[in-house]
Parts: sequence; structure tokens; C-alpha cells
Amino acid sequence: MKCEIIAVGTELLLGNILNTNAKYLSEKLAELGLEVYYQTVVGDNLQRVSEAFKKGVERSDVVIATGGLGPTDDDLTKDGLCQALGISMLLHEPTLTKIESFFKSIDRIMPECNKRQAYIPVGSIILENNNGTAPGILLEVNGKISVLLPGPPSELIPMFENSVYPFFKARTNSILKSKMIRIVGVGESAVQEQLREIFDNQSNPTIAPYAKSGEVHLRITAKAETIETADKMLYELEDKVRDIIGNNVYGCDNESLEDVVIGLLQNSNKTISLAESCTGGLISQRLTNVSGASKCFMNGIVTYSNEAKQRFLRVKEDTLLQHGAVSSETAYEMAEGIKRVSGTDIGLAITGIAGPTGGTAEKPVGLCYIGLAYNDKVETFKLMFAGNREKIRWNASIKALDIVRRILI
Ligand code: ATP
Repeated sequence: MKCEIIAVGTELLLGNILNTNAKYLSEKLAELGLEVYYQTVVGDNLQRVSEAFKKGVERSDVVIATGGLGPTDDDLTKDGLCQALGISMLLHEPTLTKIESFFKSIDRIMPECNKRQAYIPVGSIILENNNGTAPGILLEVNGKISVLLPGPPSELIPMFENSVYPFFKARTNSILKSKMIRIVGVGESAVQEQLREIFDNQSNPTIAPYAKSGEVHLRITAKAETIETADKMLYELEDKVRDIIGNNVYGCDNESLEDVVIGLLQNSNKTISLAESCTGGLISQRLTNVSGASKCFMNGIVTYSNEAKQRFLRVKEDTLLQHGAVSSETAYEMAEGIKRVSGTDIGLAITGIAGPTGGTAEKPVGLCYIGLAYNDKVETFKLMFAGNREKIRWNASIKALDIVRRILI
């Protein structure tokens, strides 16, 4: 079924509020296997709301509108729908009684304008609203379904879940299920190149790349009659992707790189300590975002100055003088130092120039060294990152976490 969403509200057009209802509805409709082809935002204007509905029912099987069901004059969604379909409204007594009792229950007299909310397009099914006065509307005319839901998400979401979702679930014989495959260490174009054959021959499941800062995510989506079949289709495609992309695939769905690293540390009974300079504690922060990290994360210290590197990590003065704070030698001694003072299995260190100042021709902004002390060995990695300070620090944190991930798998 082709579907579209119309969000009604001038405040959406002015940017005063974000159209989170469209995001919510699109996700839910996809889950039901309904294809959302259009999203429209229209202001509180009868003519334009009516045109949006006219266009909607012309080109889609289902139109879901949100907002504009309130009691005031600028709440025009029902009028817009009626004008578009050429139907009228009738007073729905049970709804009026419900609104009146609501006002009685809060010891207030119902304002006359609230009566508007009890007028319903002829032929509608009423969708109960247990969190507000505006009822929802479901109307089927000439095989086209229109659904009207109130704007406040606290009203819309329960109504969608209690009434709209089951209605469509009973009418569709397919579901859409998606999975996100998370990749690190290769760029989006390299991923596309390696998966060229899969991309070119996709139909069901489909595959689409999403470039994230420092990572690539692939959304794979299967359409099937049952969840079990969709899951099977997704697993098969994921397997193919993993065969080609290998260890660069680090996780799925909401699993973050830090979740994976903490999981690997816990499974292998290893502990880690960190000495951070240019990332200022970002890597420690990311690791400690993971609940249960204390089992394997011993400590992280930010040794930003040369003095701190010497005092806490025993980096040699000579090393700093000869090679500088941003050097392979310093990263080496930082990693060795933090592992020793913390007594952990792994010592991870990072030093670099996040910019925008501090770069030279020899050591430009974006240059970072990562040191990894593990198994009586210290390895260092020289890396160059592009972008502003925030991006350099973020991408450096990804690389550092990924280095730990790779030695643990
Ligand atoms: P009410 O019954 O409260 O008058 P309504 O159906 O008339 O609701 P609107 O008046 O259009 O809805 O919007 C009421 C509030 O709902 C907005 O101020 C906003 O907080 C929220 N809202 C409306 N539309 C959206 C949307 N598309 N996404 C997220 N929130 C929205």
C-alpha cells in the first residue's frame, strides 16, 4: 500500500517545532510494510490543507495526517479533509458527552469551541484519545483510507499503537524489517565498490549505505510475510556482507564501537587503562558510557601537558625534547607508562594535534599517534585525520577503539 503523511501546523513551517510525528509514523509504517512515498508539511490554512488531502488521496492509498484537531479556529484538518473529499460533518453525540465529562471531571465548564471537536466527517470510525479531547478519525472513501491524529506526540503515539497499527496489521500480509550493519576502518565508496554486485542486483532485501562520521552503516531491509522469513533473509544478506567486508564489520543495529570493545574485553577477561592527550578524555568517556564497563576499564587519565606526561606516565624528558609530545616515541612511552602504573592488560595512549592552531609543516593539524601496550609489546600507529577539532578528536577516538577491537578479535 502506498502511503503518505501530512503534518498540519504553521509552527512546523516556521521551524518552531520539529516534525517528530513524521519520523515516528514513517518508522511505524515501514515496520508494517506500508511504503511511505511522500511527507508533506502544510500550514493552518483551509485551502492548502484541502489541496494536500486532494493530492494525497489521488496518489496514495493511505493518507495519515497529524495536528490541527484542536478546538480553535485555526484547527482545520477535518474541514480540509471534508472539503477535499466533498463530504460533510455531523455532530457525534458520544464524543460530545465524553468531552463534556472530561471538563466536568476537572471541574470546569466546557468552552463552546470544544464542541467543534465532536464534529466528525460522515462515515468515520472514531479513534479513542485517552490523553486529550480530540478524537482521531479513520475514514475509508472509494478504497482510499484517511487517518487523522492529533499533533501532541503524547496523544498521537498511544492512539497509533492502540488503534491504527492493529488496523493496518490486519490488512497487510507483509512486514518490512531492517537491520543496520556497522562498519569501521573503510570508507563509504570502498564499501560500495566491494559490495558492487550486491548493490547492483538488490531487490529484496534492499541495501543502502549511510556514511557516519568515521564509520559506514549499511541498512538492509527485507519484505516478507512473517518476521521469521524476514529475519532469515536479513541473516543471509548479512552473512554475504560479512564474507566480503570481513573484520571491518564491527556490529549491528544500535551496538556502538564502545559497546563492542567493552564486550570483547569482558569476554576475554582483559583490563584496559588509557592515557589521553589530544582527545581530552573522549575515549574514556565513550568506554564509560557502556554500562558494566567498570569490570574491564581500570582508569583513564588526561595527560595534556608535557609535565603531566612525565609525572604520571614517566615519559622521559629527553623523549619530549628530542621528538616532541606528538610523536611515535612519546605515544610509545605513554602507553607503556599507563599500562605499568595501572597494572592492566592493555595500555592505550593517544597524542596528537587537534587544531585549529598548533600545526607545523612537519607536524600538521590532524596528526595523531596512538600507542598500544599489550602482551609485553608496544606498538605505535601514525595517523592523519582531516576536519575541524571536533571531527579530528572524534575520528581519533574511533581509530583508537578500533585498534583495541582488532587485537581482541
Ligand atoms: P490539540 O488537541 O492539543 O489542539 P492538535 O491536533 O490541534 O492538538 P496542533 O495544535 O497542531 O495539534 O499541535 C499541538 C502540539 O502538538 C504542538 O504545539 C506540538 O507540540 C505538537 N505537534 C504538532 N504537530 C507535531 C509534529 N508534526 N511533530 C511533533 N510534534 C507536533
